[in-house]
Amino acid sequence: MLKKLFQSLRSPLRKPQQHIRSTPEVLNSSQHSLQRSQFSRYAVSIVERLQNAGYQAYLVGGCVRDLMLHIEPKDFDVATSATPEQVRAEFRNARIIGRRFKLVHIHFGREIIEVATFRANHPVDDEDEDSNQSSRNESGRILRDNVYGTLEEDAQRRDFTINALYYDPVSERVLDYANGVHDIRNRLIRLIGDPQQRYKEDPVRMLRAVRFAAKLDFGIEKHSATPIQPLAPMLRDIPSARLFEEVLKLFMSGYAASTFEMLVDLELFEPLFPASSKALEYNPTYTHTLISEALSNTDLRIKQNKPVTPAFLFAALLWPALPAKVLRLQERGMPPIPAMNEAAQELILEQCQRIAIPKRFTMPIREIWDMQERLPRRSGKRADMLLDNPRFRAGYDFLLLRESAGEETDGLGEWWTDYQECNDSERREMIRDLSSKPDATGAPPRKRRRTSGAKRKRAAGDAPNTSGE
Ligand code: ATP
Ligand code: MG
Repeated sequence: MLKKLFQSLRSPLRKPQQHIRSTPEVLNSSQHSLQRSQFSRYAVSIVERLQNAGYQAYLVGGCVRDLMLHIEPKDFDVATSATPEQVRAEFRNARIIGRRFKLVHIHFGREIIEVATFRANHPVDDEDEDSNQSSRNESGRILRDNVYGTLEEDAQRRDFTINALYYDPVSERVLDYANGVHDIRNRLIRLIGDPQQRYKEDPVRMLRAVRFAAKLDFGIEKHSATPIQPLAPMLRDIPSARLFEEVLKLFMSGYAASTFEMLVDLELFEPLFPASSKALEYNPTYTHTLISEALSNTDLRIKQNKPVTPAFLFAALLWPALPAKVLRLQERGMPPIPAMNEAAQELILEQCQRIAIPKRFTMPIREIWDMQERLPRRSGKRADMLLDNPRFRAGYDFLLLRESAGEETDGLGEWWTDYQECNDSERREMIRDLSSKPDATGAPPRKRRRTSGAKRKRAAGDAPNTSGE
């Protein structure tokens, strides 16, 4: 008894949190801007059907938040009091999926609506009582959380106040348990509950804070921002497969450039990309420019609805970390090209310890990098063969990226730009011109690099030496 009393005093989760109300603020249709027709009609019909079957059901999370901000939602999530099995029993096109927790996916052609059962937050000291469904490790990180709960508990276990808004399309009312509407108006990312504890429960919330701040152009509220730096190293313990998914969301949502700045400022970049973070320390200008340029280009392509590949992004994020590794291997006597290959292999292997980049992306990363060694060698039929290579475009874009970050390539990018625009006879002439240069392979003339000590130093220390010298 005494122990229980003591625990309840100690555990902040036992008492209502500062930001959670036991009864929500209810906004009726005249008090908010949402309209039922803005939501996916499939999601609305799921909610209606669950309610008709006697369950509570709401639209929740990102879709409510985004529509309040006049942003088109990425997807529509439903939260309900029905268990996954009960949901499945209501819909023929429903499938229970379960990774970290059980969810139901309801399929309508290409559209998938995710239906989640209300869940509760873990009482911090409940380990023994609930060990089958929930558990934490010694640092407080939640390892499993499949504890169902009430609507109020569901609001409380959500990450940010702006993500804990529930919309009922039938009554057209919004339920706000955590002052989310207030934070939307004030453009603030604020964790529900005690920030430090909520980050410890799930360190990925630190990345989510940054992602939403960048996407929505919100600030991170002071108390939610201050614990991030000291807790950032906790990301090292997150399974690498989950981090891969999170990093894709961070960099492929159209706000990668500002996300990167925030990650660096909050010291979240280091646990994600340790080698690149070192490069950022040793060669700040070059590394920062190259990564920012790559990310800004990606953002632009996404805005223009052009395809983007994670391989190109990872190739850019990791490239500045290569020279240090190449240099170390060369100092041990390894010739330049094998050193480059070995360094690339090592770097990718190391990176995959943190972020599990699937093979379908690591292969093209290597190909983009290999292409950097091949682009200077243009003599004979080489240039035309390169042009036919399916990776040429990515390799060429990557070359331009390196140049825009200040890498010295002796006009190689411009040469390739011209070559692509030329007709056959002009191309033959361009190749002939190359052989009159001192280097018969068509690599950028070495002489010029050697005359400039400062330049040479930069080529070695600042950017990978891809000319094979
Ligand atoms: P978007 O889909 O636009 O990226 P979202 O807010 O819908 O944003 P999801 O990852 O789809 O984000 O998650 C849906 C909801 O689930 C969130 O709004 C939040 O309420 C809750 N949620 C997701 N991840 C966490 C987490 N790690 N901790 C607590 N709540 C979470
Ligand atoms: Mg979502």
